[in-house]
Amino acid sequence: MAKPLTITVAGAGALGLATALALADTGARVTVFDPAGEAQNASGVAAGMLAPAFEAALDPAAAPHFDLLLAARDLWPALEAQLGIVLDRSGAVAVGETAFLARAHAGLRKAGLHPAELSRGTLESLAPGLDTSWAAGLLTREDWRLEAAEALAALRRAASAAGVEFRDVPAAGFEGADRLVIATGAAHGLAVVAPELAHLAPIKGHILRIESQAPYEGVVVRGEGAYVTPSTGGFTVGATMQPGVADPQVVEAEAAPLKAAGAKLFPALAKAPHQAFAGVRAATPDGLPMVGRGRHPGVLLAVGARRNGWLLAPLVARVIAACVTEGEAGPFAQRLDPARFG
Ligand SMILES: Cc1cc2nc3c(=O)[nH]c(=O)nc-3n(C[C@H](O)[C@H](O)[C@H](O)COP(=O)(O)OP(=O)(O)OC[C@H]3O[C@@H](n4cnc5c(N)ncnc54)[C@H](O)[C@@H]3O)c2cc1C
Repeated sequence: MAKPLTITVAGAGALGLATALALADTGARVTVFDPAGEAQNASGVAAGMLAPAFEAALDPAAAPHFDLLLAARDLWPALEAQLGIVLDRSGAVAVGETAFLARAHAGLRKAGLHPAELSRGTLESLAPGLDTSWAAGLLTREDWRLEAAEALAALRRAASAAGVEFRDVPAAGFEGADRLVIATGAAHGLAVVAPELAHLAPIKGHILRIESQAPYEGVVVRGEGAYVTPSTGGFTVGATMQPGVADPQVVEAEAAPLKAAGAKLFPALAKAPHQAFAGVRAATPDGLPMVGRGRHPGVLLAVGARRNGWLLAPLVARVIAACVTEGEAGPFAQRLDPARFG
């Protein structure tokens, strides 16, 4: 019998863990290195939206890639079953001033979607507690959601059960393995074996968790300057975008605008105590991750998922597994190829 391939995965965020699990499922012997332990990365603080529709509609960097984002989302039900988690498929609504709603509507239509136009009454039932001044909204059921911390823990459990081993130290290179998968988020520490990491720029983001006696059980609400999602025991309000900032420390002054923007949507948030978290996203020049073979033999990259790491994780894992097994990487591999930046 052939000796199984040995693979080092550097990074235990959503991309590293989903990839490690997929690689273990191919029969490889996988070891994940990460000095940060559990839930201390961008993946752990994220809102967990799996949102191809509103990301394509509202984020110019995502707009050309609705097909890819939707394909990634459609890989989630299989992973959901494998992890034993439950995705929230109740959808998302946009509320805001006329110009914002017109932009959201045009973006959704451009993606080929037909959002439902909501009256105040329907809005109230989908998003209980929404400020009464918002009289109209747009609903799409294409956007789903997960609890990020729970999903991260479930990925780790599933990877362990599939035989993946974990080391709570940084990877300095291949660590003796046949292949190295770099899933180190915004970090550049492995640039010596992956010069492509120079294309990554950090985008710091703050997010607020707000506990509430009556936890929010409505749909995700997208407004101008903030979104609000349910979270265990309350609300999540996200997220700031600070391009060029790589420091993951929480700075209350940087998080403060979120509280105000969240309270414009749900007035009850204004006085509720909050806890701020921060994470650093990694972004490439075209907004899509670098996924696939690196320039250095044996190196694979799974980095640069920007605002959509959770959404993209199963697609990233599938492409990397295909690269390792020389299998069919699917229609999006070329768009994600790390070599596209030269
Ligand atoms: C506030 C906020 C809200 C977000 N909301 C969403 C959302 O709703 N939906 C969505 O899809 N995405 C969201 N994102 C984006 C998403 O979180 C990221 O795209 C995703 O987490 C990236 O995952 P990753 O595995 O690439 O990186 P990370 O989660 O950053 O993990 C990288 C890991 O690599 C480790 N590492 C670094 N160097 C080394 C080394 N040399 N060796 C070993 N390990 C190393 C780090 O310790 C870290 O644990 C959000 C991000 C932020 C900041």
